[in-house]
Amino acid sequence: MIFFFIEAKKSPRIFNTTCHEIKDATRGKSSKHVTVNLENNTHDRVDDILSQEIAEKDVTYVDSRPIKNGKLKIWCENCHFKKPARSGHCNICNACISVRDHHCVWIDCCIGSHNHRSFIITMALFLFCGFYGFHLTMTTVCTPEMYLGWFLFPSDCRFLYIDFQTAVSFVAACYTLMASMLMLCNFIYQIVLISQNTTSQEFHQASRRGLRTKCFTVKNNIHNNGFIKNWIAFIFTRREDTGNIP
Ligand SMILES: [Zn+2]
Ligand SMILES: [Zn+2]
Repeated sequence: MIFFFIEAKKSPRIFNTTCHEIKDATRGKSSKHVTVNLENNTHDRVDDILSQEIAEKDVTYVDSRPIKNGKLKIWCENCHFKKPARSGHCNICNACISVRDHHCVWIDCCIGSHNHRSFIITMALFLFCGFYGFHLTMTTVCTPEMYLGWFLFPSDCRFLYIDFQTAVSFVAACYTLMASMLMLCNFIYQIVLISQNTTSQEFHQASRRGLRTKCFTVKNNIHNNGFIKNWIAFIFTRREDTGNIP
């Protein structure tokens, strides 16, 4: 669990280096803004990039980037570069993140293309430890009973407060259960999103644009390749920015 926690804390693929390159490139230049095109590493004027912005009516698909003033914003004003599809700017990290999901306050790190898998594994292990720890504590502080021949269940809990250690163990187990239940809600939410190959940021944008259904699915999701293919892609590859979207 610690290994995957450290992996999740590693870089989610931040475009910071490029941002610094851009700031260096813009220094002393007569043109107001110059940016680096990530695909071919050429310098383009920001006016050219702004002219590529797509009108809201033509954006029929789900995109992680916001729509402002009737246009899809592909230019990050903080990092000064053209945001690839599926990326998003984080105000806490002050950087654009590749395939950004969200900023996790618990590990103080953005979840992006390079650490999303480790983040999910960390969550799963945390849940296992939380529920197993709760069950283990409860069957210790209470007198357990065997159900169906294999499952121990706390049965007689009359002596929970018989001594200090037992009482503390019981209260700690209750807090662990509460934390695990909250984590479970988040985990299910993540599973639903990954199953349709979308991110929290894309889901949020879809909600704002009325592209969300009542079943927590996203309409016109061009990244969705079906349940099995989405999971195979998530487990065995790193989700990269899609090149077929401007
Ligand atoms: Zn940015
Ligand atoms: Zn962040």
